[in-house]
Amino acid sequence: MAVESKGSLSINSENLFPIIKKWLYSDQDIFIRELVSNAVDAIQKFKHLVSLGEASAPEEEYHVTVHLDPEKKTITISDNGIGMTADEVKKYINQIAFSGAAEFIEKYKDSAEDPIIGHFGLGFYSAFMVSELVEIQTLSYQEGAEAVHWTCDGSSTYEMTAGQRLAHGTDIILHVNAEGEKYLQEYEMRSIANKYCSFMAVPIYLTNEESKKEKTEDKEKEEPTPINDTTPLWLKSPKDCTEEEYKDFYRKVFMDFKEPLFWIHLNMDYPFNLKGILYFPKLGNEFESAEGQVKLYCNQVFVADNVKEIIPEFLLLLKGAIDCPDIPLNVSRSFLQNDGYVRKISDYITRKVADKLCQLYTSDRENYEKYWADIHPFIKYGCLRNDKFYERVKDSLIYRSPLQDRYMTLSEYLEAAKETHENKVFYTTDPRQQAQYLHLLQEQNLDAVELGTAIDSPFISFLESKNENLHFLRVDADLNEILKDESAKTTEDDQKKAETLFRSLLGNDKLKVRLEPLKNPDISAMIEMTEEARRMQDMMKMYGAMGLGSLGEQAEETLVLNQSNSIITYILEHPEEEKTSALAQQIYDLARLSYGPLSAEALTAFLNRSQQLMQGLIS
Ligand code: ADP
Ligand code: MG
Repeated sequence: MAVESKGSLSINSENLFPIIKKWLYSDQDIFIRELVSNAVDAIQKFKHLVSLGEASAPEEEYHVTVHLDPEKKTITISDNGIGMTADEVKKYINQIAFSGAAEFIEKYKDSAEDPIIGHFGLGFYSAFMVSELVEIQTLSYQEGAEAVHWTCDGSSTYEMTAGQRLAHGTDIILHVNAEGEKYLQEYEMRSIANKYCSFMAVPIYLTNEESKKEKTEDKEKEEPTPINDTTPLWLKSPKDCTEEEYKDFYRKVFMDFKEPLFWIHLNMDYPFNLKGILYFPKLGNEFESAEGQVKLYCNQVFVADNVKEIIPEFLLLLKGAIDCPDIPLNVSRSFLQNDGYVRKISDYITRKVADKLCQLYTSDRENYEKYWADIHPFIKYGCLRNDKFYERVKDSLIYRSPLQDRYMTLSEYLEAAKETHENKVFYTTDPRQQAQYLHLLQEQNLDAVELGTAIDSPFISFLESKNENLHFLRVDADLNEILKDESAKTTEDDQKKAETLFRSLLGNDKLKVRLEPLKNPDISAMIEMTEEARRMQDMMKMYGAMGLGSLGEQAEETLVLNQSNSIITYILEHPEEEKTSALAQQIYDLARLSYGPLSAEALTAFLNRSQQLMQGLIS
């Protein structure tokens, strides 16, 4: 039986090749994924036949080889799999799923590059992105089959003649073009093979004609090692995995030598198939520097990083590997977004992560609190992004009290605050800067929680929107409510006098001044700004920092003078004395210092004045 034939590819490939080149152009590397995964598939199919007794097992190990020959400028991908008969080459290669291809061209001719599209069933043809000529040498496992040799130079014609393979399996020989030459470098090839093939199910070897020559000289030794791990940890049953294995896997895959905090092993067969491991990485303290990586695999073949249709965006701060054999990868991302099945996967992952957090909270609170500093930005971000997630984890959210140096939940805090400030939560954004205010609270047996990272300010607004009546007040806001000494009295007249005097002593006739008897007599004065005004100011600052226009009006602060403080009463009673001016300014600066940093000018003035005051003490 002669296998010789010539013909035209059965689609209009004048259209196809330029398009394949165009949409795959930005990600040329994936030809290796496509060809190696075809080789792996061919071996899997063969194994299956062996298991059914329809073929006999080969003597050598099932494996795929990627062989580089820099001199001949070829890359050869070989497998000892099922092989193809001449008819199969015609059917699967020449006619490729071209109904699919036509549809594909129609859909994607205008779309931007998309890494998922490689799974459209055009995988084999990605070879032409890096080759000027592609050869196939194949022999089917079927009894009596003849070896086939197929060549095509990327135009619309191919040639088929008798082939040379003696054992079943296939060699795909790429004669690389200029763009493909870089893949002849072992280093380059190894790095992309690692990216795409690290967990494929059949051992893959990378060999090089050049080093092969060298090796024949000192022969033997050196068992070659496959580049991949054919049984990735996520496939194992969670109960059979050890802590060390999880950590090793993490180190190997993410090159992160900080240990992960904890992990979730996803393992589901029904109603959809999904396996994977998600790690909570140890973050730096800065939320901004968090950068996760969730790798998506389809049957152990790497598809893409951070596919946010499948892994909810807020989970992309995690690191992990997810294998979904059944996701409809051959469709566009816009379809993925609207696909109910994909949404179910995404919901499932979200739920699992929430469950794990709740489980840690209830059964391992000690560690949970230890992890909190690392995981809270992620959890809060998740709450902001995903209502279902918030509903699941809301009772496991904890807050640190710097005064008690311990964590509590919101309801624990509110319960304790019921008598004195119902539904109000005092918080500090910076326990050191706001130490004086915290101290005041402590004196009253009150408490505050720390909420000072970037995510906390939107998170506070979020909690307020979720809990009617709940109100967060920074420790320096609206002081009077709690700290005011109700028994003392201030008259209208006193107020007026104090305001006029301090405005003139400080040289600022717009300054808001209020005389107030505070419970603690040691504090001379404090700055007060309402919670709303301060939030507005923070927001303006943020917009300013983002380059979104001017800061607008400076929010109004009030200088609260403590009527119970002896220096204040002294100033009020001796307005004409020379030293009152320096005292008033010093008091104002101290109040501002315990509220926030001073401007450079104000700080210089404050330091100079402090020197002079000390001078006064000794002279
Ligand atoms: P897909 O893998 O999605 O089917 P491809 O274009 O990658 O699409 O491959 C087309 C077909 O060619 C495969 O389904 C398979 O039947 C056949 N094929 C490709 N490579 C091999 C191989 N190494 N061994 C056997 N058959 C192969
Ligand atoms: Mg394929």
